[in-house]
Amino acid sequence: MKLYDIIKKLGLSCLLVIGAALWSHSAQAHTAMKWCTKWRSHYVDAGHGEDVFTSDSPYKRAAQYTRYKVSRTDTGQVIGSGYLDSSGCTPYLTATGGVEYKFSQGSLVYRSGVGLIYAHPDNNTWGPSAGYVYYNNYFTTLALVVDGHYTHTFEPNTLGPRTNVMPIIGKVLSKYSDLGYPTGKNTYIHTDCYPGRALATCCGDGGAYHIGGGYICMGPGDWGDGGEGGGEGSTYWKFILGHEIGHRVSSAHDGPYGFDYSIDDTNPQCNCDHVATGSQLHCMQSLENASVAEGEGFAHFFSSALFNNRSSSSGIFVYPKETWFYWPEDGWIEVPPERPFDLTQYTRWKEGVCGSYHDYRGVELDWLEFFWHAWTTADDYTRLTVPELMSVWDEADSSYWENLLAAAADLWLYTEPNKVLQFLDKGINAGVDHD
Ligand SMILES: [Zn+2]
Repeated sequence: MKLYDIIKKLGLSCLLVIGAALWSHSAQAHTAMKWCTKWRSHYVDAGHGEDVFTSDSPYKRAAQYTRYKVSRTDTGQVIGSGYLDSSGCTPYLTATGGVEYKFSQGSLVYRSGVGLIYAHPDNNTWGPSAGYVYYNNYFTTLALVVDGHYTHTFEPNTLGPRTNVMPIIGKVLSKYSDLGYPTGKNTYIHTDCYPGRALATCCGDGGAYHIGGGYICMGPGDWGDGGEGGGEGSTYWKFILGHEIGHRVSSAHDGPYGFDYSIDDTNPQCNCDHVATGSQLHCMQSLENASVAEGEGFAHFFSSALFNNRSSSSGIFVYPKETWFYWPEDGWIEVPPERPFDLTQYTRWKEGVCGSYHDYRGVELDWLEFFWHAWTTADDYTRLTVPELMSVWDEADSSYWENLLAAAADLWLYTEPNKVLQFLDKGINAGVDHD
């Protein structure tokens, strides 16, 4: 055999070996695919210095904990289903080459050990099946796939009330521990309310509100004519949805909650006569029954805790109604909706503006600042968690300060006195320490 022939033969056999190896590799025609997806969302009240979801333009955000299903388009065979991870991705699934897959994403989120939150579609049937599939994406694998691990991310363009709600409820599950979001309880958010559209469970007057039992109604369809969103529904205001989820959390813990919204203060800065955007029932700076000021203040706080990090040195809450601001040169100024409040301050609105100390009333802004500082600021004491804060209301006989402080003492005086001191210290600083 000539050398040339030997080389040629060796070369050929080498090629054959390589070819066989490639064939045996691709002959399976299987590979590991991970699919990720997003929700396009638009929050007109974003970008004021908060930490979470900071763009006020339409933006695609990871579909954290979203329900999904992956199936073959041709045979319908399901190769994976469940809930996406904290990055909005499936686990690696075994896929076949040259096949089109349908990837369905549903408008509900679930995290093991926490619970389910539904963003409800446009009908009055509550439940998992209604929100199961919101829309489908399609993906075709290469005809010849080599065994390996591949990731593909979908970029859906659909935008609307439900796609706005999805990243927010995914974030609630992602931060549930910091937020004190209750475990083992489901939350149902109706996203398509507008005035005059009463459904069986929701939307009676079109407002954005929590109706107990974990049900939240988002509307009206036309919130915020004065805001930069120019008439978008309340799901375009992330701090509103965060606030309603706050009521759900408070109610689950038997925390502060009030229904008697009577406000009769004649001081314009301490009533809501100036409010044109949203309800005049209550507002940020009005002098309200203590139980309402505490419940609404907590809901503002919860929204702040959702969109700011507990470890951050700053904290911003953006309010969707008109508010008052005192400017030394011009006197009182009415600030339009979408005003950012700097939570690192103590305003003491009741003490400084409303002036009546011992009237069993309170101001939402003061209570917002109380909860924020009690939750974030360690000082010499101990930061209180949301469940700890809620346990004070659960323990107390009434929503009056005297009873709240007594309840805090009952809970912690002999075991963790720093927690009582934290409650008292932040109460004095926020100016909520009055009956
Ligand atoms: Zn509220």
